[in-house]
Amino acid sequence: MNNENNISSGRCQCGDISFTFDKSKIISTHHCHCKDCQRATGSGKATILFIAKKYVDLKGKLKFYESKGSSGSHVRRGFCPNCGSGILSYAKEFSRIFYIKAGVLDDSSWIKVDSNFFTKSASDWSKPDKSIKCFEGNPSLLSGLKTIIKSLK
Ligand SMILES: [Zn+2]
Ligand SMILES: [Zn+2]
Repeated sequence: MNNENNISSGRCQCGDISFTFDKSKIISTHHCHCKDCQRATGSGKATILFIAKKYVDLKGKLKFYESKGSSGSHVRRGFCPNCGSGILSYAKEFSRIFYIKAGVLDDSSWIKVDSNFFTKSASDWSKPDKSIKCFEGNPSLLSGLKTIIKSLK
């Protein structure tokens, strides 16, 4: 049974898309400074929470834009077709793991960020937080994710 206090919620700006998930199921949290995240958010970075898809209860229908990531995987970015808010993304090749955007949560005060991705493309006006682990590019999480995915089966 889920503990009520562990449930976190989020939504897009217009409210057509909303979701809930169990905070205790978050695998890790990261700032991504890659150019695609900068374009998708219109800011210096995206802050993303890794969680298995099965723990996310999504209401509404996201529209997806697919692009090829630097590691060769296909990243599908989900957004509200009405208001355009970016909600979550996932790699097509590892579709069991969602990357939820921290900014769309109703309350994100509890989030602790573990590391920075793609610091090499971070801008001077949005510098990576050096107090946490920094990866110049993609931290090759994919092999790690495979292990995580296996453990979820
Ligand atoms: Zn919306
Ligand atoms: Zn990124």
